[in-house]
Amino acid sequence: MPLYLGWTAVVFARESGELWLYDIEWSTGWSPASPFLRRMALRRASLACDELEATLPQRPDEAVTCDVCSGTGRIKEPLICGCGGYGWVIPGEDRGMGIG
Ligand SMILES: [Zn+2]
Repeated sequence: MPLYLGWTAVVFARESGELWLYDIEWSTGWSPASPFLRRMALRRASLACDELEATLPQRPDEAVTCDVCSGTGRIKEPLICGCGGYGWVIPGEDRGMGIG
């Protein structure tokens, strides 16, 4: 099931609960979604499906408040912030190039 459709890739949830990325820009195919992309895709999908709210990760102790959105997760409706919509980021975490 597609959870997030980006400009360059789509994040899918498999029946097993794993989240995978399908690259449509570089035709590199399937790869496991990074921890950041998993969080971002779940957050984005939860905006349309309330049942997913229970699956969202809690803020880890090492996280810091996102200085772009000041902790709101939003930058301008309906866009979510580059922090994935959580309002916090994990210092040093690889957020990749993004998928749009
Ligand atoms: Zn943010």
